[in-house]
Amino acid sequence: MVDHTTVLIAGAGPAGLVLGNLLRAEGIATLVVERASREQVQTRARAGFLGPGSARVLTRHGLGAGMLHKGRPHGVCAFRGADGEFELDYSRLGRGEVHTVYPQQDLVTDLVAQYLDRGGEIRFGATATGVDSGTATIRYRDEQGENVVSGRFLAGCDGGNGITRQAVAAHRLTQDHGVSWLAVLAEAPQSMAAVTYAIHDDGFAGHMARSPEVTRYYLQVPPGDDPGAWTDERIWAALDTRMRTDEFGQLKQGPIIERRIVRLRSEVADPIQHDRLFLVGDAASLISPSAAKGANLAIMEAEVLASALISALRHDDERPLAAYSRTCLPRVWRAQEFSRWMIDLLHPHEDAFHRALRRARLDSLRDCRAHQDFFAEHYVGI
Ligand SMILES: Cc1cc2nc3c(=O)[nH]c(=O)nc-3n(C[C@H](O)[C@H](O)[C@H](O)COP(=O)(O)OP(=O)(O)OC[C@H]3O[C@@H](n4cnc5c(N)ncnc54)[C@H](O)[C@@H]3O)c2cc1C
Repeated sequence: MVDHTTVLIAGAGPAGLVLGNLLRAEGIATLVVERASREQVQTRARAGFLGPGSARVLTRHGLGAGMLHKGRPHGVCAFRGADGEFELDYSRLGRGEVHTVYPQQDLVTDLVAQYLDRGGEIRFGATATGVDSGTATIRYRDEQGENVVSGRFLAGCDGGNGITRQAVAAHRLTQDHGVSWLAVLAEAPQSMAAVTYAIHDDGFAGHMARSPEVTRYYLQVPPGDDPGAWTDERIWAALDTRMRTDEFGQLKQGPIIERRIVRLRSEVADPIQHDRLFLVGDAASLISPSAAKGANLAIMEAEVLASALISALRHDDERPLAAYSRTCLPRVWRAQEFSRWMIDLLHPHEDAFHRALRRARLDSLRDCRAHQDFFAEHYVGI
């Protein structure tokens, strides 16, 4: 027997859950098929910085209560290097907007609860194994065995390693940026008030707030490095060196509770739709975390797709659906361009010419108001 729904959604990350919530608010039948358990999706720590565009989407659709209650505004970042440190108060630059620091797992927890309250269904522990974009059908495997479910439309929200993206006969542009980061979570409060980017000949190091008890740090490491080789002591020693703590003050240390290697790479599908299948978030485009854009793109694309599906289903107008790729891709490319700009700024270069260019870019960012406005606008927005 084939289950049927109106909009079938693969994946319960930010993309799938925002989409599901917006459709349920209109009374549209939806079903989410999710590989992981509820506990796993609600504890998977990844993003933490929501841009004002995402915050507006969440509040506009009644999904922002947790973020507004527990999220913290953040509007200053610092660049630290051999020549000292300078801060950019981006809440006063560009459009004067800020990030909201709200851990992705808390947002996902809120979105799951809201979606279920709105009468949505999620099948956890259900791994999609096959997709047909023409019939909007997913085959999936769960504890009971093999199942088939179909919809009038299918949304591929199953992330960068999902299955739906394989069903889009898309042209794909990929870029390996040649850089890897060790992403760690430390059970310690943040050490500095600002997001801090440290530029050092040993490699980049980053400091980002997450919650009052947990802070994210990044360390550039050789591609292919083993995260297990990074003991707590080695991580704190490398952070001390690259963050120049002798000069700028000690870090608040605590146990490292997560360590993983993130390879900085990009991938953009064009188009991001095929037949009745529409890709959203990381399934549509992968972006390096250098500028914290991935979850924000996922949320904003989910709103675009929800609105297009509502037009098709409630007003019999499929034109917004037909334009889905054209609507989303310019924003994706602007985010990619800024992320690449950040990668060039943050990482050491082999040759002296590029090192000098990077220094000139930092000097300009420190001294030139127009450059600071450009940075602020792109840093928080897309
Ligand atoms: C270390 C790190 C830090 C980051 N920091 C930021 C940040 O500060 N700001 C920001 O905006 N972004 C950040 N990102 C990126 C952000 O986390 C992602 O872009 C975001 O999770 C994308 O959401 P999504 O819903 O598209 O995909 P995902 O969150 O990956 O969700 C996809 C879901 O699909 C499920 N799934 C996968 N395959 C299948 C299958 N075959 N069948 C069924 N279900 C399946 C998965 O289990 C998952 O639940 C960061 C990423 C990392 C790794």
